[in-house]
Amino acid sequence: MRKNIVAGNWKMNTTLQEGVALAKEVNEALKDATPKCDVIICVPFTHLASINGEINQEKLGLGAENCADHKNGAYTGEVSASMVASTGAKYVILGHSERRQYYGETSDTLREKIALAFENGLTPIFCIGEVLEERENETHFDVVKKQIEDALFHLSAEEFGKIILAYEPVWAIGTGKTATDDQAQEMHAFIRGVIADKYGKEVADNTSILYGGSCKPSNAAALFAKPDVDGGLIGGASLDCASFMGIVNAF
Ligand code: PEP
Repeated sequence: MRKNIVAGNWKMNTTLQEGVALAKEVNEALKDATPKCDVIICVPFTHLASINGEINQEKLGLGAENCADHKNGAYTGEVSASMVASTGAKYVILGHSERRQYYGETSDTLREKIALAFENGLTPIFCIGEVLEERENETHFDVVKKQIEDALFHLSAEEFGKIILAYEPVWAIGTGKTATDDQAQEMHAFIRGVIADKYGKEVADNTSILYGGSCKPSNAAALFAKPDVDGGLIGGASLDCASFMGIVNAF
């Protein structure tokens, strides 16, 4: 059966020293806890190796926020999936809306990144979601379906089964505007149906679909109570240990 997961996305925040301190704080908070979900932090590349040395990944998984769409070579400034894996990280966020919007990521580049993540044993946390205009003109279901089809539906059922999905309506990311729990449930159930049509009910039922977009301790419980919402991808609120743990404990 699918897992409940709360994953932090620190984005481009914290110095190395601040990040190590935050990771240690979260690790400490989880030491004697038995949360009803897996807990993951996705952190800047520069922090991965140091944080890996400070946390117990049995209790707190570690991931990157991106990886390159090439294996290695003359791509100045890029960080490959094998480099990420060599730090001890186990996860990688791919297709975040900020990468799609500011760095021109397309389904073509994302297919390459997913293949390289798999080759290096990384679990992709794959983001999908519509912008405000698409929600307002009611094309949001079509947009999300196409994002999934274009970037993921070339995968075998076995490969697809290794993906964690994150539905993140772009209008809710970092805006303080959360999708209502009913809006989240409606889209998550739709996504599960799209997966079932392609791969069958068992694969769909086993896929964790996280919600992301201004999730915080005050709204997490209502979102996570919905049957198709299997946890959250958390931006701003993951930068404070108490807030992040408040969301983890919402399960
Ligand atoms: C995110 O960037 O993945 C996110 C959900 O951000 P926030 O929680 O800050 O809206």
